[in-house]
Amino acid sequence: MSDVKAPLRCVVLGCGVVGTEVVRRLLRHDADLAARAGAKIELAGIGVRSTQTPRDEVVPSELLSEDLETLVDSADIVVELIGGVEPAKSLILRALRRGASVVTANKALLAEAGPELQEAADAHGASLLYEAAVAGAVPVVRGIRESLAGDRITKILGIVNGTTNYILDQMTTTGADFDTALADAQALGYAEADPTADIDGFDAGAKAAILASLAFHTRVYASDVPTEGIREITADDIASAKATGNIVKLLAIAESVNGAIAVRVHPALVPADHPLATVSDAYNAVFIEAEAAGTLMFYGPGAGGAPTAAAVLGDIVDVARGQVTGGRAPSGSTYAMLPIIDSGLVPSRYHMRLRVADRPGVLSEIATVVANHGVSIETVRQTPGEEGRAGLIIVTYSAPQAALDATLTDLRVLEAVEEVVSVMRVEGN
Ligand code: NAP
Repeated sequence: MSDVKAPLRCVVLGCGVVGTEVVRRLLRHDADLAARAGAKIELAGIGVRSTQTPRDEVVPSELLSEDLETLVDSADIVVELIGGVEPAKSLILRALRRGASVVTANKALLAEAGPELQEAADAHGASLLYEAAVAGAVPVVRGIRESLAGDRITKILGIVNGTTNYILDQMTTTGADFDTALADAQALGYAEADPTADIDGFDAGAKAAILASLAFHTRVYASDVPTEGIREITADDIASAKATGNIVKLLAIAESVNGAIAVRVHPALVPADHPLATVSDAYNAVFIEAEAAGTLMFYGPGAGGAPTAAAVLGDIVDVARGQVTGGRAPSGSTYAMLPIIDSGLVPSRYHMRLRVADRPGVLSEIATVVANHGVSIETVRQTPGEEGRAGLIIVTYSAPQAALDATLTDLRVLEAVEEVVSVMRVEGN
């Protein structure tokens, strides 16, 4: 009896930044991929919006097609690299309902309809893998879904958007203001002409939803994730963070809180000696706290054609192995269905910058207002100000957001306080 398996027909939908790199490696490394998967993975078609668009020379023009549905109907493995919700969603559902395996990098779609897609995969015995949807080449989806399947994750802190990490890193290392660092990121191709999805935290919010779903076995959608971006961060905020031994990062946070979960995205200060503080440039990292494992950090390039293609190809090999052996690739579960609570209910430490009158007694007036709302001060640091004014940096112990908000309301009307300049959460210790 021959043990030579029939080739698996693989179609790639979308041939842009990531699709081109996937095609390149499917063709260049076909012998290695066949040996690893147990069957040849044959590139049978490439779906695009227009076959007239100029392509990299590696893309075989005879495989291009604008008829994506027909491609899907002929495939054993469908690789969706179009992005956005439609037509990606309809094409993925069409593939799964045929029992074909699907690999996608589409975080926007997964954060909006991941559970629906997974249910379709389950109903038809199909596989759905999406390692590239969070943090590019960094194997965090597989790490959470498989390596930590026997543990209990308590908290995830992720730097999952390379553009914003680049901007904040530039501001930290060069003292640049936000607009200069953003223009720099755009010139380098890290930020889009319309950078809203990145800098307002929506991209990180989609990834937070995907990570939280996997880690806490609960359906979490992008709409469950309150997001706050980095537009308002100033060079002074960064300098003030540094003065207190911290670095500002945009974090995707998911944590378990008394049998519920809270998920959010916002800028936060992390101590300069925390592993996340060392993540520079456009790199991504996901820091995980788990009951048995302790702390882990997954780190690496979070975007770009080749790194993202690496994650896609790993998924292709995985689903191909499944097709060869007649099994399905592992999937996440939503059995726990934990309640998702308002993140404002989760106590946090806060870093406040105030401009105050430079006279005796001011500190005790402020300390009294803060204490009146049950908020405890961890450190106070005075910085020089202009004539008759001083700067104050107050770091609090953990306090509920409602207590902090009430404190700020009272501080803003205190005669001694000229301005509450900024307030940021402190994470990571
Ligand atoms: P891209 O460069 O914009 O390429 C998109 C491709 O999809 C193009 O080939 C385009 O066809 C095709 N397409 C778009 N709309 C279509 C439609 N209605 N029908 C048929 N084809 C259509 O995108 P990308 O950067 O490669 O991203 C692909 C996916 O990977 C997205 O989900 C993205 O979020 C994810 N991802 C990207 C990165 C990254 O670094 N780029 C990192 C992680 C994840 P034409 O070529 O004919 O226009």
